[in-house]
Amino acid sequence: MGLDPLGLEFEIYSVPEVTEELKDQAGPSYRVAISTSSGKLKIQSPTAQSLKQVRDKAKVLGDRVVLSDADTSVLALALDLAREGRKPIVVSDDYAVQNVAEGIDIAYQALATLGIRQKFEWTYYCPACFRRYPGGEQEVCQVCGTKLKRKPLRKQAARNRYSGKN
Ligand SMILES: [Zn+2]
Repeated sequence: MGLDPLGLEFEIYSVPEVTEELKDQAGPSYRVAISTSSGKLKIQSPTAQSLKQVRDKAKVLGDRVVLSDADTSVLALALDLAREGRKPIVVSDDYAVQNVAEGIDIAYQALATLGIRQKFEWTYYCPACFRRYPGGEQEVCQVCGTKLKRKPLRKQAARNRYSGKN
């Protein structure tokens, strides 16, 4: 979407599925080629373990249907990098990607919107007995075992936002 890895001070990672999508676009594919050859951009596939973790979380969050393979891989790669002790920031304007990123505790930044200034904070509740689970660390109600639902609690300044070059 116009992101130039060379303009960022961070190490940039992407996945093969994304570079494949950009292949037919002159500008982006040129930037990918230059950035990769200069070592600024690293193309890496995520581990199967992280892919499964992202798919499972997306399923729980209900975002699975709208997550493309490329989106899933990007999120999974972010998990791998986090596991290595890095602090990855997923760059995506896709709200499903952002919601799943929140769900797996990975920071994100929207590109086209110049960063999300607001984000949803979800509260979880049991649709059967209406008990609330504000932390979101449960997936089913402790009392009746029903799968929890979520709703936006309030908007707040996005804590995961960083101010990079856009
Ligand atoms: Zn319940």
